[in-house]
Amino acid sequence: MSTPEAVGDCALNRVPMAQPEPIGLFGGTFDPVHLGHLRLAEEARIALGLATVRWIPAGQPPLRAEPQTPALHRLAMVERALAGNPAFELDAGEVHAAQASYTVHTLERLRRELGPAQPLVLLMGADAFARLDAWFEWRRLFELAHISVATRPGHNFPQVGAGDTAIFSEFRQRQAAAPALRTSPAGAIVPFALTALDISATQIRRLLAGRQSARYLVSEPVLDYIQHNHLYR
Ligand code: ATP
Repeated sequence: MSTPEAVGDCALNRVPMAQPEPIGLFGGTFDPVHLGHLRLAEEARIALGLATVRWIPAGQPPLRAEPQTPALHRLAMVERALAGNPAFELDAGEVHAAQASYTVHTLERLRRELGPAQPLVLLMGADAFARLDAWFEWRRLFELAHISVATRPGHNFPQVGAGDTAIFSEFRQRQAAAPALRTSPAGAIVPFALTALDISATQIRRLLAGRQSARYLVSEPVLDYIQHNHLYR
């Protein structure tokens, strides 16, 4: 008969340490959240095998003009857009922060919360990625998370002509030495192909300001919220 210690050893030998599944992080102004955002999160979840996607609406984004809509309305719209999808979670940390939030600080907070081993994947569109080198302490982002870039099928990524920028030289180096998303907590840049949906919040704000239909560009609960609260008039 084996001793309890031996049984324990045996079990340890046979059962590999479970790797935590990567968690996606998706920040944006979401003014308003639209179907392009929802498809990005959903397709990233499937393509990258993410356990969940945490949506992080910006409070006061440091790099752009004050959003048209107060943060609490943008938060409420994202909450409605995510309802019913158990893989989507809402993170109100930036909205409730006292000052403008930098992504690097948000990632530090999430690292403290989720631990050093948890793979984190920051999701963004190729347009946001191309401007990454303007973000506060952008090189530190890679110490804290992987970055996954949604690209359009049929379009080159990185774009031709973008070769000399700091961000694309970082991209080339990191792709060559890419750690695996699932087995390392941070440091890779991973493109994934996203169904092209030419939808932007700017276009939706314009349509609504002109009293035109934004139906099927945003989800019905979000449109109901917009109408009920007389937003974007
Ligand atoms: P705006 O028109 O106000 O600039 P937006 O529609 O680009 O807004 P943001 O909240 O600024 O929305 O974007 C959040 C993230 O979603 C960014 O990483 C952006 O690249 C990405 N994104 C937005 N729309 C799309 C889309 N249609 N397809 C792919 N990615 C998108």
